[in-house]
Amino acid sequence: QTDALKALRDVPAATTDGCTIQLVANISDAGDMEQVLENGGEGVGLLRSELLFMGRDSFPTEDEQFDFYKKVALEAGNRPVTIRTIDIGGDKELPYFGLPQEQNPFLGYRAIRFSLDRKDLFLVQLRAIIRAGVFGDLRMMFPMISNIREVREAKAVLAEAKKELLKEGIAFDQEMQVGIMIEIPSAAVTADILAKEVDFFSIGTNDLIQYTLAVDRMNEKVSALYDPFNPAVIRLIAQVIAQGQKNNIHVAMCGELAADPMATSLLLGMGLREFSMSAVSIPGIKQRIMDLSLSGAEAMYQKISEMDSSEDIRAFLSGYPNA
Ligand code: PEP
Ligand code: MG
Repeated sequence: QTDALKALRDVPAATTDGCTIQLVANISDAGDMEQVLENGGEGVGLLRSELLFMGRDSFPTEDEQFDFYKKVALEAGNRPVTIRTIDIGGDKELPYFGLPQEQNPFLGYRAIRFSLDRKDLFLVQLRAIIRAGVFGDLRMMFPMISNIREVREAKAVLAEAKKELLKEGIAFDQEMQVGIMIEIPSAAVTADILAKEVDFFSIGTNDLIQYTLAVDRMNEKVSALYDPFNPAVIRLIAQVIAQGQKNNIHVAMCGELAADPMATSLLLGMGLREFSMSAVSIPGIKQRIMDLSLSGAEAMYQKISEMDSSEDIRAFLSGYPNA
């Protein structure tokens, strides 16, 4: 690690006009925490829990899951950690579970759809997460939400988990914050409705771009169409952030766009205040934020919101590297 990186590690990510931004990390294991702290991450915005379920031949028990989440909580100290419930399916397979081959796996049986279909397994994961919440500042988040019914059903399973643990006399975090990923266009469009059901949003741009533009995120052939600066994507993101503010809930972004320095001013200008990314991207984005002013970023977003094409937006953003 260079001295410059170390010096950057302990300063807050603040704009030149004093707006402080939360920079947190995406991780998949407790062992990743060391790298998060080394890079100045202030917590974890996305723990992808899939690793816990992969590379084995049966579903992990509640205690196995509890141990995993507890370890993450302890490694994080008192820093916040957002645990995403299982996001299996799509690009993430689970061999022992015999998930069916699908024509369109990204549009199929994945994430919360799987969890709500297998509430027996979902309940186990939720019990393990809230039990581990006793050991740190854990939050929980549901992936691939497309409508309010899914949120309510997931919360009902959470209520069931709490009721059971209470009856069994097992300690758990009674007040854990619950959030959802905004990564399907229907969720972005109805952010005002969904905001009333949850404590926070995290925008998953990897999937949001894929679904908004109908571009398979894994397919090289169409990767040129996979465009975060398409005005449709920008409008959806802006709308989610605005609805979060209006409804007083926290909004973060955990998709790759959060780590793109070209997008930083635009996202700040829209009102985003929490960015979650791979640990190694944090210092670069922090440096970028420290070079920007919030007022400049807001002016930039105003101009961009009136532009017609990704080409114009990109040209504008790259023409003003310090705006
Ligand atoms: C996303 O879709 O942006 C996201 C963060 O989730 P994943 O990449 O795990 O699908
Ligand atoms: Mg996703």
